[in-house]
Amino acid sequence: MTNTDLFVSNMYKEVIKQYDEVSEFINLDSNIRERLKLPQRALTVTFPFRRDEYDEVETVVGFRVQHVLSMGPTKGGIRYDADVNLGEVTALAILMSWKSAIVGLPYGGAKGGVAIDPNPLSRTEKQRVTRRYTAELLPVIGVDKDIPGPDLGTDEQTMAWIMDTYSNFVGSPQPGIVTGKPASLGGSITRREATGRGAVAIANAALEKEGKEYKNSSIVIQGFGNVGRYAALDSFERGAKVIAVNDLGGAIYNRDGINIPELFKYIAKNKSVGGFEGADKLDDDILELDCDILIPAAVGGVITSNNAENIKAKVIVEGANSPTTLSADKILKENNVMIIPDILANAGGVTASYFEWVQNTQNYLWKEKELHERLIDVLTSAFEEIWIISEKNQVDLRTAALIKGIKKVAAAKLTRGLFP
Ligand code: NAD
Repeated sequence: MTNTDLFVSNMYKEVIKQYDEVSEFINLDSNIRERLKLPQRALTVTFPFRRDEYDEVETVVGFRVQHVLSMGPTKGGIRYDADVNLGEVTALAILMSWKSAIVGLPYGGAKGGVAIDPNPLSRTEKQRVTRRYTAELLPVIGVDKDIPGPDLGTDEQTMAWIMDTYSNFVGSPQPGIVTGKPASLGGSITRREATGRGAVAIANAALEKEGKEYKNSSIVIQGFGNVGRYAALDSFERGAKVIAVNDLGGAIYNRDGINIPELFKYIAKNKSVGGFEGADKLDDDILELDCDILIPAAVGGVITSNNAENIKAKVIVEGANSPTTLSADKILKENNVMIIPDILANAGGVTASYFEWVQNTQNYLWKEKELHERLIDVLTSAFEEIWIISEKNQVDLRTAALIKGIKKVAAAKLTRGLFP
């Protein structure tokens, strides 16, 4: 075992393999190449957690990883998931660095996680986990140091508890400590919808390049959480047919298109899409359905060498982080499937977070419409640049996006120079 093995996970290996390939392609300075493989800071915490039944106390493990601190504060979500580990959080923090750089934000990448299954947690249990985890992170987070946001298993309410806990320790209200907060605390509705809507806006721009129309496409979405549901709503509003969606509670299919606003009303009461009257129950594997566009928007590692050959979609829009393994990526490329990579497709989240953070720290009041227009402008401009890189270098969109992101981060580090 080497000193750096503690950062290794399957996801980390994949992220570094991609990074190595692109670094080689752009002939990246060898010193910087090695440096960017490891995070600058990684905090592991453990804390006691009491379930609602008073007699049960567990020890929970959490992480916060900050990859690059050269360009500004670090930024990245916090996920609650039983399988979270340091290697996964590190991989996601690295991806956040490339993602922020791609859309030109003054952030380095970070990520956090608590190794706990959020699904069985009551509201009070989740609140206790969140407050104690936040207290443990106090030495490393801050409005101009590291700004968390939501991710898998966390939501606006979780961000509100983080803000409240942090503000209590600091002694004054600190809305800028997190993004993705409720609107009543300075959060923006744009943030809630940004990742899903941003993914669709980029997919729309990509289809236009190929002379196709998003609005006439059939869409399949895996996951109906924050990302999946707004991707579905935006697709519906554009006139596309969302023919299938699923979540942990069930899967539904309607060849004529699911009425997404009705589905929103349904899940507000039922928590899962399963059982929705406006569609049939789906028994087939949702990823392998015949459709124009597949949007994996749930968890990582779902498209692998085992199912890549069976994917029938012509375009994959990676709403989730790392949904496609590298081996699957190669198979899909051979089958001429266009992949809009996660670091571009779901960059709407961090972009809208940046707007929210600027509003909080500068006390600006921007209108939602203005924010939405800015968001789409930033994302489609980033897409255009990546498209040009991909054409110029004859590479796929993932490689092109990585070229842009890695070059930018490396340039910032090289320009700052070595300390001491
Ligand atoms: P979420 O917790 O709000 O929703 C996740 C959804 O996926 C839920 O509907 C859940 O039931 C479903 N799900 C989980 N496992 C599943 C499985 N195996 N099959 C089918 N459905 C499953 O999470 P989210 O915020 O929507 O994030 C989804 C993905 O997008 C994650 O990979 C996250 O890292 C990524 N992401 C999110 C944001 C954001 O702004 N929320 C930004 C960038 C990337």
